[in-house]
Amino acid sequence: MKIFEEIESEVQSYARSFPRVFHRAKGEKMWDEDGNEYLDFLAGAGTLNYGHNNDLFKPILMDYIQNDGITHGLDMHTKAKGEFLETFNEKILKPRNMDYMVQFTGPTGTNAVEAAMKIARNVTGQQNIVTFTNGFHGVSLGALAATGNSHHRNAAGVSLNGVHRMPYDGYLGDNIDTTEYLDKVLSDSSSGINSPAAVIVEVVQGEGGINVASIEWLKSLQTVCKKHGILLIVDDIQAGCGRTGDYFSFEEAGIEPDIITLSKSLGGYGLPFAVVLMKPELDQWKPGEHNGTFRGNNLAFVTAKAAIEHYWSDKTFSDEIKRKGQYTSERLQKIVEQYGDGRFTTRGRGMFQGINCVNGEIAGKITRNAFKKGLIIETSGADDHVVKFFCPLIISDENLKKGIDIVESAIQEVCAEEGSIPEEKVYF
Ligand SMILES: *Cc1c(COP(=O)(O)O)cnc(C)c1O
Repeated sequence: MKIFEEIESEVQSYARSFPRVFHRAKGEKMWDEDGNEYLDFLAGAGTLNYGHNNDLFKPILMDYIQNDGITHGLDMHTKAKGEFLETFNEKILKPRNMDYMVQFTGPTGTNAVEAAMKIARNVTGQQNIVTFTNGFHGVSLGALAATGNSHHRNAAGVSLNGVHRMPYDGYLGDNIDTTEYLDKVLSDSSSGINSPAAVIVEVVQGEGGINVASIEWLKSLQTVCKKHGILLIVDDIQAGCGRTGDYFSFEEAGIEPDIITLSKSLGGYGLPFAVVLMKPELDQWKPGEHNGTFRGNNLAFVTAKAAIEHYWSDKTFSDEIKRKGQYTSERLQKIVEQYGDGRFTTRGRGMFQGINCVNGEIAGKITRNAFKKGLIIETSGADDHVVKFFCPLIISDENLKKGIDIVESAIQEVCAEEGSIPEEKVYF
């Protein structure tokens, strides 16, 4: 189709990696307009945890539309919104002893991050927010300031202020606890770091290259925040909604963030939806202070409720994610032992897994080769050097194996072609 070249902006990105016109999708599969079939290991960058057009919610959504249910409602109370809140409270918050207020923001992740940072600044009266190296929080200006990636930052056109960057877990090597540094600079009135309103962190950095914060580091981060009276914001937009095995990515660490952002798979069906969860005492918004026309995407409320009911009423789904995650990490471990001259490594938690190929060019060759074999899979990280395994969580065992087999054969071919892997700068 020539129309894309004719009038679609150069800003396109995924369309460049997967230059086909897609037409249909189901579960973990997609088809292009010529009927070619692909396995989807990109899953809308984590928006399709429950797969494409999930049959458990599709009839519910169709019924709702058929019966002229409200589609758009600004922030008015609707039955669909009320039922989502009830289900979210009963199945997600209460069983985890979580007491939070829910703010509906505009339906993108970056919108939720903006709101989270605003409320933290307004409540504390401090401007500064601590963010981490390789963090990704969206591309609107406030969230972009918190994002590390220079490719995205350089497009801002204005200076990006109000944040201070700190090294993420592991950034300075395995033996350095970077929260000690944070504690030190916050304790020193001459460190030059203004007392922050909050820290914003991803438990697993998705766009930043699948960097996993250890449980101990997260606990220690919370301790440092408490000690210095700083709010802890967990951006769970990509790592949440089951990706790491639990509903929230921080559950295993047992930490209690003051503010949490959710989006991507929250809507369940790939429909836009984002929220901010905040401790009740932080909910100091004045009516309409932060708004957005599309805060009331009721179709997403309907499918979000259905997704929670179907998948999060008991432990079954969570156990399944952990089992498939374990299988994935064992397979990837074997692959890196076999290929990449001992320089490739694995990383991840749950079904949030990757192979660090050290070199972006090689990772790109691997994913392009995999696409030729019918697998949609992307890279992430500072130099796009990590092959990112991000299939829908509902994937069948058979297709999970098939997808990994495809990557294995792509890696085998690329490594055979390359001879040896160049000794390049080792990206974090
Ligand atoms: C995707 C993402 C965002 C931004 O969400 P958008 O819907 O693209 O604005 C923010 N934070 C994290 C961790 C993300 O993965």
